[in-house]
Amino acid sequence: MFLISGTESECCGCGACVEVCPTNCISFAENNETFLFPKIDLSKCVSCKKCENVCPFNKPRENKITPKSIFFGVHKNKETVFKSSSGGAFSSVGKILLKDGYTVCGVKWNGLKVVNSFADNEKDFEKFRKSKYILSDTNRCFSKIKNMLSQGEKVLFVSTPCQVEALKNFLTKPSENLFTIDLVCHGGPGQKLFDIYIEETEKTHKNKIKEYSFRNKEPLKGRINTRSAKITFENGKEIITDAKKDPFLRAYYSRLFFRKSCLKCPFANLNRPGDITLGDGWGAEKTDNRLNPETGVSLIIINSDKGEKLLERIYKEGNMELFPISESEATAGNSALLHPTPRHRNREKFFENLKKGFYPSIKKYSKSPFFKRLYTKATRIIRKK
Ligand SMILES: Cc1cc2nc3c(=O)[nH]c(=O)nc-3n(C[C@H](O)[C@H](O)[C@H](O)COP(=O)(O)OP(=O)(O)OC[C@H]3O[C@@H](n4cnc5c(N)ncnc54)[C@H](O)[C@@H]3O)c2cc1C
Ligand code: SF4
Ligand code: SF4
Ligand code: SF4
Repeated sequence: MFLISGTESECCGCGACVEVCPTNCISFAENNETFLFPKIDLSKCVSCKKCENVCPFNKPRENKITPKSIFFGVHKNKETVFKSSSGGAFSSVGKILLKDGYTVCGVKWNGLKVVNSFADNEKDFEKFRKSKYILSDTNRCFSKIKNMLSQGEKVLFVSTPCQVEALKNFLTKPSENLFTIDLVCHGGPGQKLFDIYIEETEKTHKNKIKEYSFRNKEPLKGRINTRSAKITFENGKEIITDAKKDPFLRAYYSRLFFRKSCLKCPFANLNRPGDITLGDGWGAEKTDNRLNPETGVSLIIINSDKGEKLLERIYKEGNMELFPISESEATAGNSALLHPTPRHRNREKFFENLKKGFYPSIKKYSKSPFFKRLYTKATRIIRKK
């Protein structure tokens, strides 16, 4: 654990230690890569070890859970799929639980900041749709959930597996009123990197950015590109950009600037902390040619008895078309279920050069290795012929 070892790969920045500390002696400070890490004011520490016990990186994860069943799924409502990152499974599950009186804690945009937040109605729930590929500010949500559960309220928590594990540690004992969804997760950059990118993009376009949306599904030249994003400027101008043109997307999809914890992630396997796991159905077209991951297919993994009960409801009222699959079909297209994201060979160089600007550092360091570029160029020429 980072607070004991000082090893940066042992902290995802979930903030559970900051929230749990009874003397408020932990605060966040930025490291030289712009990521936030907890720092203890030892003069106020009473050695209660609560920060150690809550940390999702403190205990080695034993292989205790194996999936009960796994599916590819697509929401039957096309608009829902369009407004979702994958096949809309989160909307299906979330709306069943909203109807049952659950308050949903998910992740939304607050302007251009990515934060955990609460919704008890459909309007607020909509804001959680679509992945924001930036590690979120948990916004002291763990204590709020603990309070709600202690008052008999029902809560659905959906986030990255490290945050789900942190919440479960924070609560110390299981609660019948808590339902958890973890996302398949290969990692992400921090908010500060996105802020720097936004600042430079606004300067380039001489225009303020109002909204940013990953996983844009509006077709560009007749084709949906899942690696595209939509930027809306304050003067109303909209652009759709992709990993070839946009430095943030290029760095994200080449996995250049991820937090160190993501490169050693203990959750990159099928031993999941959530009652169910949701992700992308990459490779689903090989299972059934009616499925198209570009328009959106969900991967749904059922991990617990609670998850199994919910599965019955999804079948009856979830509006999802479900396709049972095997473990190997689930993992074939999704390496985040098999191993952590490998370190990009230029990761450290990128951070060392960040002071010279986000755009120039990306341009210099996110390039693929020479032989891969040569191969891509050659295959393009052959295809043209
Ligand atoms: C950082 C990150 C990395 C991911 N990596 C992978 C991957 O490698 N492979 C894969 O199959 N799937 C990955 N996913 C999950 C995938 O992108 C979709 O979120 C998931 O399939 C759900 O899609 P949906 O259509 O069911 O729901 P949607 O309607 O798109 O809902 C998105 C859900 O994600 C939550 N969310 C959004 N942003 C964040 C965030 N920053 N942190 C935590 N929760 C967030 C929202 O609260 C909502 O519940 C990743 C998600 C994130 C946030
Ligand atoms: S040991 Fe207790 S008092 Fe000290 S930093 Fe951790 S939580 Fe705070
Ligand atoms: S992973 Fe979370 S709980 Fe552990 S040290 Fe980092 S911020 Fe604290
Ligand atoms: S890759 Fe692992 S450590 Fe990083 S955000 Fe995802 S679950 Fe957390």
